[in-house]
Formats: sequence, structure tokens, C-alpha cells
Amino acid sequence: MRQRVFGRTGEQTSEIGMGCMRFEAPEKIDEMAKAVYRAFERGVNYFDTAPYYCNDKSEDILGRAVKEMKKTGRKFYVATKTGVGKGSEVRPQLERSLKRLNVDCIDFYHVWCLVHSHQLPERKANGVLDEFRKAKEEGLIRHVCVSTHLGHDAVGPMLDLGDGLFEGILIGLNMLNFNMRLPGAKAAAQRGMGVVTMNTLGGGLLTDHAAHYQQLMQKGDRCLVDTALRFNLSLPEVTTALVGFRNVADVDSALDAYERVKILSPRRLEDLKKNVIAASQEFCTQCNYCRDCPVEIPIVRFMEAYNHRIVTDGKKPEAPIFQLRYHWGIPEIEAALSACTECRHCEEVCTQHLPILERFEALKKDERKVKAAAEKKKQEKEKEKQEKKEKQEKKAKEKRKRKKQEA
Ligand code: SF4
Ligand code: SF4
Repeated sequence: MRQRVFGRTGEQTSEIGMGCMRFEAPEKIDEMAKAVYRAFERGVNYFDTAPYYCNDKSEDILGRAVKEMKKTGRKFYVATKTGVGKGSEVRPQLERSLKRLNVDCIDFYHVWCLVHSHQLPERKANGVLDEFRKAKEEGLIRHVCVSTHLGHDAVGPMLDLGDGLFEGILIGLNMLNFNMRLPGAKAAAQRGMGVVTMNTLGGGLLTDHAAHYQQLMQKGDRCLVDTALRFNLSLPEVTTALVGFRNVADVDSALDAYERVKILSPRRLEDLKKNVIAASQEFCTQCNYCRDCPVEIPIVRFMEAYNHRIVTDGKKPEAPIFQLRYHWGIPEIEAALSACTECRHCEEVCTQHLPILERFEALKKDERKVKAAAEKKKQEKEKEKQEKKEKQEKKAKEKRKRKKQEA
């Protein structure tokens, strides 16, 4: 496993890092810790977790593996996060993470889940960054990082709000969304920060829907994992690419793919980018040319979610809706789109000539379906509960009757 220098920190992190949010059986702490240890044995030295991952068990699992990894005396790095909004809330969560991870100091502690541009200024005003600074001075944090879903040119100004505090960025960058996310990675690298990529395999898009992307595979690739890893590791801005492993077998297959991967020359990397765009056809490439919506609808976020609709052939309405709600922080799709004046400026400038308004309508329909399904489920549960209650009451009544008769 090769290592790269993590920005100006001088730390040497492995090219592949382990994302600890996909354990297949989080309740089985010891068994899952074996996957972490296996990755460590194969040279991975960067482990990324967070509170609440895997039913809030991820930090415990990593902490269990940390106990074993410490015995080897070999260097490894633990990264975790906090998304709290107030300075006073940082320390309790940090202390909880330290305890669960079995470490005295978090190597890379992230200001977590920066989805909207207003979030970091708010947290800064609420004293969150001051608390990070204080904890670093006390030796509880080694390096301060940010984890963000922001894209395009929104990232650089956000990083500058740290006034030099931030030493690394965790960003969801892969071969399908580089138009949106590469500018942020570049902004971080230019500021001397380490760049760790999450969603390296397209958040499941590349692996779960391989048929849609097969033409991107290159000579010698056994699967799209090879292609995706090669893409991220060929980007000079990237320090470590995270891959989420469910179990020991996942560790071995991804690291076998990594060992096959050869870094692309800058020219071949540009060719691959062009191929991705050419193969995208009906997909939104997240170029953000549609950014100047007069009513500020974040069109790229809706169209990125629509990509998930394409790969699931529209058969899983929950796929794009999940992406909008939980990845992009847009809980009410229909309400968010209600401001659209149908001026069609976005369609005129779209580099992919996408029928954006038509896609909005499809997403609204999907949301209605998801809501209806949730409502149906709720009603069924209530009915079940009511029937159970009635059954119990009937039983109790019969019991009382029997007792009366016996008496
Ligand atoms: S059609 Fe709607 S989404 Fe597109 S630019 Fe006009 S207002 Fe914005
Ligand atoms: S211009 Fe078209 S392809 Fe580019 S981000 Fe907007 S919708 Fe996507």
C-alpha cells in the first residue's frame, strides 16, 4: 500500500482509507472489527468513522480494532466527526468519541455535514471552531478537517472561514461527479490541505448499477471498482480515497483491485474525463452551468438525484428522494420546487440538453409515491396495533369472565 503526504500536516496516509459506515452486521462488534483489522494488515492506515454510523456502532467497532492495532506498534490514523451546531456541544461529543475509539487524541476531527453554505458561518458564530481550536491546543485533536457536500466554487470561501484552522477536507468525489467536486478538492489542495474522498465508488451507483457504466471500464479492468479507484488516485489533489467495507471479503476484493490499478498519466486522465462525459448522455454531469436560476433553485442537486432515478429505471422512487432528503438536505421536494417560474433558462444552458422541468415533475411524483407508501405503512402499523390491543382486551375480558364463573 502506497502512502501520500496529507497536505501540510506531513502525516503519511494510505492511498486507500477505510470508510466505516457500511458494516454488514454492526451489532457483532468483534466480527466487524476483524474487517478493520484485515484492512490494517493489508496496509490501510486511515480509518474514517462518525457517531451514528451503522446504528451508532461504528465508533465502537473501530475502537475494538484500535485495541488490537495498538499492539502492533504500527502507525495508524483515526478520523471521526461532529456535526453539532453550538460550541458547548463539541466537548461532550468529542469525549464520547475518544472513549469509544480507545484513543487519547483524534488524529483527524471533522466539522461534519456541511451541506449548505450558511452552515459553517453559523457554527463559527456559535463558537464551534473555537472549541475545536481549544481541543487541539489541549492535545485532544491532532488535525482539524471539514467534511462537506458543497460543490463547485462554494468550497474555497468556506475553507477560508477556518482562518487557517482546517488541515484536511473530506469530500464526496468520484468519476461521476468530478465536475461538481473537483473544484473543491483543488481549492483544498491549494490551501495545503489533505484531500480524502468519500463516495469513491459513486455511493453505490458504480457498483450496484454497473451495466449503466460498463463502457467506462478500461483494458485490464476486472470491474468498475478498478476504474473508479484509478480515477480518484490519478487525481493529484487526492491524498486518500475511502472505500466502505462491509466485511473481510470486501476488504480483500477492493484491495486486490487497488493492487491492479495503475495511475493514469495527466493526458489519459483527461481522456477518461471526456469518456465519462460522453458516456453520460442522459445523465446530469453536475457541471453547474445551470447555476444562475433566478429563484435560486439548486438545480444540480435535483438533477444529481435524478441520476439515481435513471439507474434504478424509475422503479425505486425512494432512491432519488433519499438522495435529496439525506444527502442534499432537501426534505420537501415539491415545496422546494414550487418557486420555479418555468422560465426554462436552465434548460437553455444545460450542457446535456436535459429536460429539467420534466425531471422536476418526475421527482415530485416520486415524492408523492414515497409519502403515500409511508402513510400506508403508518396506517397498517396503527391497524396492527389496534388489532393487537383489541385482542388483548378480549383475552383479558374472557379471563375475567372465567375467573368470575370459577368463583
Ligand atoms: S425553469 Fe425554474 S429551475 Fe429553471 S431556471 Fe427557470 S426558475 Fe430556475
Ligand atoms: S447544466 Fe445540465 S448537466 Fe450541467 S449541472 Fe445543470 S442540469 Fe446538470
